[in-house]
Amino acid sequence: MGARCRLCGGEASYHLDHAGMSLCSECFTRYYERKVYKTIRKHGMLRGARRVAAAVSGGKDSVALIGVLHKLMQERFREVELVAIYVDLGIPGYSEECRRIVEKVCGDLGLELHVLDLREAEGYGVPDFANTPFRRRMCGACGTVKRYHTNRMAYELGADRLATGHNLDDVVEILFELYLKGAVEEIVRMRPVSWSDHPKLVTRIKPLIELTDRENLFYVLAQGLPLLEARCPLVGESRMLRRKKLIKEIEGAIPGFRHTFYKTHLKRFLPRLEKTVEEPRLAECEVCGMPSLGRVCSYCKLVSKLRKAGARSPRPRA
Ligand SMILES: [Zn+2]
Ligand SMILES: [Zn+2]
Repeated sequence: MGARCRLCGGEASYHLDHAGMSLCSECFTRYYERKVYKTIRKHGMLRGARRVAAAVSGGKDSVALIGVLHKLMQERFREVELVAIYVDLGIPGYSEECRRIVEKVCGDLGLELHVLDLREAEGYGVPDFANTPFRRRMCGACGTVKRYHTNRMAYELGADRLATGHNLDDVVEILFELYLKGAVEEIVRMRPVSWSDHPKLVTRIKPLIELTDRENLFYVLAQGLPLLEARCPLVGESRMLRRKKLIKEIEGAIPGFRHTFYKTHLKRFLPRLEKTVEEPRLAECEVCGMPSLGRVCSYCKLVSKLRKAGARSPRPRA
């Protein structure tokens, strides 16, 4: 006989390791949606929001994100509009699969989807970074590309929030590295909400920050949402993956490690560190006009390396 649901006694489908409980599909769905709702409320993520752009990659976290946001906005945040944005990174054999999933989910949910095809719009794809000094940091370069374009798309669509699918495992993995390095300026940026007062920088929210990898996977399965099978061929044996494995091992030895680490960061360290670190002043990039810490933004610097390697320059901004 299989395990029983802790809440209703029915047949359990999902086991939540960190909570030491099994739940059936319906009880899990309620638990998950309530948790996301509470995270949103607790941090005021949608306070005063009118239009949320959700960045979808096709991976399970972002698919869970639009699934749950769509539902919550129908039931609880009726005044907020949801649109999906997707950046096609031009990775052969992978980006097509991601795009197919994103189009399917948005089609099924009746969501407005905006796609930026990097090769069409900018004349390059992420694999082209293999010919630049970034070849050893492909995931970092890709992250810069995605951060830049999701923000720009959200801004151009008139969104006042940009939601991303970062989950607890992602955040703990990044925090782990930052605390080891003592990167205080970066640590204070690891927040559930990054409020922006720059008109071209959209406030970023992480509604899934308290949900684990597995919980997002379970939600996708429980909702019958499509699941991406492909893995990015560029990731390889990255440090990021090695750290994720290490954190799984720690969690095995210290159950609840991720939740405790995150909570300690949020409640104990963040409020103190925020007082010591000055918010950087944002200027506008001389090349593209988008927000930047220096004269030229990190995205334009990245693309200028590509241009040297033979790709087309980015399109000028209106
Ligand atoms: Zn149940
Ligand atoms: Zn720029």
